[in-house]
Amino acid sequence: MTGQERSEEKSECMSLSPMMEAVPAPPESERVCVFGTGDLGRSLGLRLLQVGYGVVFGSRRPHSNSSLIPHGAQVLGHAAAAQSAHLIFIAVQREHYDFLVPLANQLKGKVLVDLSNNLRKNQYPEANAEYLQSLVPGAEVVKGFNTLSAWSLQNGPSDANRQVYICGESVEAKQAVIAVAIKLGFSALDRGFLSVARELEDFPLQLFPQWRLPLRIAIGLSAAFFFYLLIRDIIYAYVTQSKDISFRIMVSLANKVCPIVSLIMLSLCYLPGVLASFLQLYRGTKYRRFPDWLDRWMLCRKQLGLLALGFAFLHVLYTLIIPIRYYVRFKATERTVSMIRENRTTEFDTTTAWRGDSYLSLGILGFGLYVLLGITSLPSVSNALSWREFSFIQSKLGHLTLLLCTAHTYLYGWNRFLSSSTYKWYTPPGYMLCLVLPSVVLLLKLLLITPCVDRTITRIRQGWERGADQRNPKDSQPLIP
Ligand code: NAP
Repeated sequence: MTGQERSEEKSECMSLSPMMEAVPAPPESERVCVFGTGDLGRSLGLRLLQVGYGVVFGSRRPHSNSSLIPHGAQVLGHAAAAQSAHLIFIAVQREHYDFLVPLANQLKGKVLVDLSNNLRKNQYPEANAEYLQSLVPGAEVVKGFNTLSAWSLQNGPSDANRQVYICGESVEAKQAVIAVAIKLGFSALDRGFLSVARELEDFPLQLFPQWRLPLRIAIGLSAAFFFYLLIRDIIYAYVTQSKDISFRIMVSLANKVCPIVSLIMLSLCYLPGVLASFLQLYRGTKYRRFPDWLDRWMLCRKQLGLLALGFAFLHVLYTLIIPIRYYVRFKATERTVSMIRENRTTEFDTTTAWRGDSYLSLGILGFGLYVLLGITSLPSVSNALSWREFSFIQSKLGHLTLLLCTAHTYLYGWNRFLSSSTYKWYTPPGYMLCLVLPSVVLLLKLLLITPCVDRTITRIRQGWERGADQRNPKDSQPLIP
């Protein structure tokens, strides 16, 4: 250490927080250093103190910042703080990292934890952690803790953010960071070398990544069917009969759009699985990757299903309020009064009663199973199920739900499929359009569960490959007897 450094350290040590004299300094192994007394630095420092670490802050202005830091911590200049601990958390924005360059000597051999995040993806040519490593090549840089917020650190780990991700080149350095994470109550996941840092830095920038595609589909379908039904139901009545029934937009139209979108999205939830099975049948093997689009589609099935459930739920609510609607009450009263005036009665129609009850009953059963699917997709519930139970509910009961909801819609159409008045301006009603996809999915599924196809697909999933018997006679034994 040069004389200048010694005198700098002396003057820095004199600028300790008043707390320093009260708290005896713990050994270096139990001490950690935090550079930066900002939001994250202070929250992290507080948590570290609470679990028993000695905390030394490194700050540009140790004098003026001493009142900000948590009680029990010390605050020193960067150089002196760096020498007090082996592990140093860098809670400073990346833009200011150049202040570390003159500290290269003090940081040699130390473990530097890069906590930084960026404002957007690819903001810099290299990851912040790699940049830090290039500035201080003598130190061991570990990326980590950046997916936590200052707020969540203060509140302690909760189930939702119990995990911290780390990466770095040195195994020892990563172990030191993991030890701190565990002591703080987190579980640490080692993601590999420092080259993974960019991926970790992108984590906090993601906004519901798996919901994006399902949400776009839901919004697109809702908008498309809303305008389609607006033209068919409202504008058609206005143009052909000069009737203004625009009030129907609020409930009637909404109550048509919701079940249509729900049924299509439920079908979209099961279609990729069916397509994947046919692809495996066609290829005769499961050892070939699915196309990227199919992979992405399969990964968002849970979100598709949950959104479909949301639309089904809205459909139920809209249906339940039908009897209290002014329009419905008015029409019912008007009809009764006119029947009394004209001294007219109607016969009870058993077929209509059967049709109405079946339609409602299938809808209720379908919705019940829908809710079951939604509940079992929650991690806290699905974690309590075995894989077999989970796949039974999601696959078998899921297809049954699709069947019940499709039958519910067919009953809604009943004999109107054949009536020419249904096709206003030669267009089919929305419920007919929405039946296409679920019918296709159910038909394909029916094909897949026929014994001969099912047997082949089961063998493929057990590892059997078409043509492998000729290539290698040893493989001709079935994998599962
Ligand atoms: P902040 O509140 O702005 O604090 C940053 C600290 O850096 C300042 O308090 C200051 O401490 C120090 N600093 C500022 N300019 C400096 C310079 N030119 N040279 C040296 N040090 C300087 O930021 P923060 O919210 O704590 O975030 C710190 C880092 O953690 C950022 O990289 C951020 O991306 C990351 N992060 C933050 C959160 C969060 O919830 N806040 C979550 C995850 C990751 P002194 O005055 O003591 O020197």
